Amino acid sequence: MKRTLALISEHASPLAVVGGVDAGGQNIAVAELAQHLAGLGYKIDIFTRWEHPHLPQIVAWKSNIRVIHLKAGPIQCLPKEQLLPFMPEFTENLIRFARSESQPYGLIHAHFFMSALVAAEVKKKLHIPFTVTFHALGKVRRISQGDGDKFPAERFTIEERVIREADHLVALCPQDRDDLISFYDADPAKITIIGNGFNPQEFYPVGKMLARTLLKLEPDEFIILQLGRIVPRKGIDNVVQAVSCLKKKYGIKTRLLIVGGESELPDPASTPEIGRLQKLVELEDIADQVTFTGRRDRNLLRYYYSAADVFVTTPWYEPFGITPLEAMACGTPVVGARVGGIQHTVIDGQTGLLVPPKKPEALAEKIHLLIQHPRLTNALRARALRRIHREFTWLNVAQQTAEMYEKMGMPRPAQLGVEKSLLGSLSPTQLSRSA
Ligand code: UDP
Repeated sequence: MKRTLALISEHASPLAVVGGVDAGGQNIAVAELAQHLAGLGYKIDIFTRWEHPHLPQIVAWKSNIRVIHLKAGPIQCLPKEQLLPFMPEFTENLIRFARSESQPYGLIHAHFFMSALVAAEVKKKLHIPFTVTFHALGKVRRISQGDGDKFPAERFTIEERVIREADHLVALCPQDRDDLISFYDADPAKITIIGNGFNPQEFYPVGKMLARTLLKLEPDEFIILQLGRIVPRKGIDNVVQAVSCLKKKYGIKTRLLIVGGESELPDPASTPEIGRLQKLVELEDIADQVTFTGRRDRNLLRYYYSAADVFVTTPWYEPFGITPLEAMACGTPVVGARVGGIQHTVIDGQTGLLVPPKKPEALAEKIHLLIQHPRLTNALRARALRRIHREFTWLNVAQQTAEMYEKMGMPRPAQLGVEKSLLGSLSPTQLSRSA
């Protein structure tokens, strides 16, 4: 039985340090999906671009998971917008590698449009079926980013081609599905909605005061947390302006923590968006209220989420958005933009609050509402925790993905007897921990 899966993620390696411009949700998604699929019994090879000369070509990363580095252009980090010309070399190397393996791949799961292009070429030569998770769609990105989008227009034709040729497509949320259909004429019958997830072993409430003590934060400030990659489309300027509005309109001084960036110290040289935001903070006259922390390691993030009174995220568009899940998992209420996946993971008024993007006054108003109504905050928090444990763990995501692979003709690996008995007796959280 072919139970070997090839995941292709040309720019987003599961081994990368996350939080900078080009390493974020996709890296986490590929890493978590692979680990949870391996927990279900699949053998997995993750193909990614060789960026670091000190890494070997094959890394035996976890039990049943290898990361295979393929040469595609110079062995160095390059912005993802510059990688398309190297995809023929990536494809050639992948095919050579696959032919040298004793066991054939049963299925390819491509992540991002360039990996999908590779998968389509591999299918032509080796007849391996493939599915794609785009993580972001070029036409949607172009509409929201305009000239800020540095991908070549060729991306659109590539996406159209792979959408036709793929055996199956994954949409991250209902909006992603609608976009695949309306912008690309994708066949609805080929699309399954499978979101991203969170890992309950990593993200859980640790207690606000304990978290604040550990992070050396003031015990009695109202803390607003913004956490993620620091790029213009995340709309962090909108959050800064909302903090200013809370001060000017409502007379409330809050603390805004901005976590993320290329380095562990806030550095405008390596993260230019930090420089732009710092100027805005000065302009709004709230420098004493805003702290840029720089990037933080994942093992610290639950403390940041738990320390905050509210987590905000107001991007212009968001194919999924893992950070709201992480915040909810830590018991922190979310105010998010009514875009993409956020309107799927946050149910307005039930498990969090939604606002239009680019409307700082609307954001300030919702934060003010939470400050005024602690009972509402508690209710949102409790309902969000229940819902995301039910619907959005990585184990759920892996199980839905395995179901899709099965529909595509790849049988599920037989579980070991001991795993079967465990699966029957554990709660969703425990299941996720056992995977
Ligand atoms: N992240 C991190 N350290 C940081 C900032 C962000 O580990 O300093 C992680 C964050 O926890 C989340 C991911 O980066 O898991 C961002 O994913 P999301 O889907 O929210 O956004 P994307 O990067 O896909 O735009």
